[in-house]
Amino acid sequence: MHKIKDILLNTKPTFSFEFFPPKTEEAERKFKLSLLDLKRLKPDFVSITYGAGGSTKEKTEALVIEIQNQDLLVSMAHLTCIGSSKEEIGFLLNQYKKANIQNIMALRGDLPKNKDIHLVNDFRYAYELIQWIKLQYNDFFSIGAACYPEKHPEAKTLKEDIEYLKLKVDSGADFLITQLFYDNDKFYLFRDMARKMGIHVPIIAGIMPITNYQQIQKFTQMVQCHIPKNLEKLIEKYKDSQEDLLKVSIEYSIQQCEDLINNDIDGIHFYTLNQSNATYLILSELKKIYQKNLNLYE
Ligand code: FAD
Repeated sequence: MHKIKDILLNTKPTFSFEFFPPKTEEAERKFKLSLLDLKRLKPDFVSITYGAGGSTKEKTEALVIEIQNQDLLVSMAHLTCIGSSKEEIGFLLNQYKKANIQNIMALRGDLPKNKDIHLVNDFRYAYELIQWIKLQYNDFFSIGAACYPEKHPEAKTLKEDIEYLKLKVDSGADFLITQLFYDNDKFYLFRDMARKMGIHVPIIAGIMPITNYQQIQKFTQMVQCHIPKNLEKLIEKYKDSQEDLLKVSIEYSIQQCEDLINNDIDGIHFYTLNQSNATYLILSELKKIYQKNLNLYE
């Protein structure tokens, strides 16, 4: 089974990993080791990000195909459309189709900081990309789209953001993956609103284990996500000890995922940052806890 939308029909929750294309030989070596490590946990799928403005186009494509053909894992290619022409996007999608890659994470991408840059504007929003993929390729691709439990930073309100999210689903998105979040209550609120507003596709939670103090400050500011008080206290307390920080953050993520599983989550997608250590410990612990009722071990 290659399509994530079909996997989601048969497996609940799914577990998956996200990687980014490494830039140097050393980073490539680390990425390969992480993938090898995490493969042992038999993920339901693996996804590879797409650098802003298509900066990793060839690298993303090569990795997605390699992971599916050599590592025998279901893989998904992220694809952003802002600043790209239909011709460029079509060329890439044809390559994926030829290689039998059937899963695309269809995104707009971040707008460039320099507003004076002239962009090709064949696509302005992700829903237009999704509509176009459907029109050109019918049902060949299973399409994922991004969602934001604490709203996208450009959106005025969560309600408005969910209205646009519905447009992505109505355009053909088969499942959604959330931006990283640490506050499950905010996620449940978002999911309830989305369901009430007519969004019924699976919503997969994006989880990023905290492995580094500076990094988490940077990410949470960038995506504007709330850190609950108890987690903030822990991070502050252990910020000078990498080892302790990792230990408490792993415990936090395990509890966060347990709570999500107990509240009927469709899937958990780990933002691995190409490191296996934390994700491996979290998922293997979850598998131990849920071994029986989820039938996770063969
Ligand atoms: P859209 O869904 O188009 O939304 C963008 C903004 O426009 C939102 O504020 C929305 O409310 C608003 N909007 C939508 N439709 C309309 C409309 N019709 N009229 C007015 N406003 C509208 N970025 C990368 O560069 N590479 C990646 O690989 C990547 N992977 C990601 C994976 C996940 C799971 C997530 C959550 C994000 C990822 N991103 C990635 C980041 C993403 O590209 C940015 O968050 C980007 O700013 C928005 O992309 P989108 O697809 O959500 O856009």
